[in-house]
Amino acid sequence: MHEVGIIQNTLELAERSARASGATRIHRLRLRVGRMTGVVQEALEFAFEVAREGTMASEAVLEVETVPVSCWCARCGAEFVAEDWVGVCPRCGEVSGELRRGQELELASLEIS
Ligand SMILES: [Zn+2]
Repeated sequence: MHEVGIIQNTLELAERSARASGATRIHRLRLRVGRMTGVVQEALEFAFEVAREGTMASEAVLEVETVPVSCWCARCGAEFVAEDWVGVCPRCGEVSGELRRGQELELASLEIS
């Protein structure tokens, strides 16, 4: 389950940046997760419940922001939301495989004290 690894990395990063700011507790973590990553939100939340034990984030809230898959059309320059990794441009009908968004996997924000 690669969600566990994602949460462990996120917690490490969060603790490092909290410590760097002189904080002792993490209250809230917001993760930005693109649809293309295949990450399951419920699995992330479950992994977080387990992994936060004994860390600065032991009572923290995890928020997951899902980013839809977005393609870019090389023919007309339109940007559009696609359900799969290949989308058909709604403006000109060209098939586009150029991904603009949806691969994000990052710590978007952190609430610490
Ligand atoms: Zn187009």
